[in-house]
Amino acid sequence: MNLYSIKFVFLGHAVYGLDEIKEDALASAAFFVNEDKIKFYTVPDANLPIDSSRNQVNAEIIFDYIDRFSTISQEPNEIVIYIVDQDMYIRGMNFIFGVANTKKKRIVLSLYRLKRGYYGENMVDVQKYRERVFKEIMHELGHVYGLGHCKDKNCVMSFSKSILEVDHKLPMFCRDCLDKLSGQIEI
Ligand SMILES: [Zn+2]
Ligand SMILES: [Zn+2]
Repeated sequence: MNLYSIKFVFLGHAVYGLDEIKEDALASAAFFVNEDKIKFYTVPDANLPIDSSRNQVNAEIIFDYIDRFSTISQEPNEIVIYIVDQDMYIRGMNFIFGVANTKKKRIVLSLYRLKRGYYGENMVDVQKYRERVFKEIMHELGHVYGLGHCKDKNCVMSFSKSILEVDHKLPMFCRDCLDKLSGQIEI
């Protein structure tokens, strides 16, 4: 039995990226819940607090910020995936691609580095970008569904320190992670 629905909320300028990655977001979430339980929302006027000393948003602040300012609420048994297009960090890390708050069942994903090359300058081709989005949503949803990081570097649950490692891993869970997931989701 599957209790969850999944709501994607595109914040601020990330709304302009919705069309480009909607299919991939849908496909990754559909691994966990039925497609009719997946919805998309946009909040173009979301004014996320940028840490001006590093020109990034603090993911932890986004989790709290949303409680205070978002007009879109989280229903019971719902996972909310916030999408931002600013570069993002969390205490102790220079940057992160995404982060999950497993208790609140909330994910924040940044598109910033996923659409860029290794040095952050050029944009990668759209297919590569979409693949990365798919992988990172799978990864963060895996956390919400109880998975930790996996030692298998090919597994989508392996921790990626750099975009190269995101590109290296496969867009799928390894057998061990799948075994841990089974019983929790409908495939
Ligand atoms: Zn992780
Ligand atoms: Zn694994």
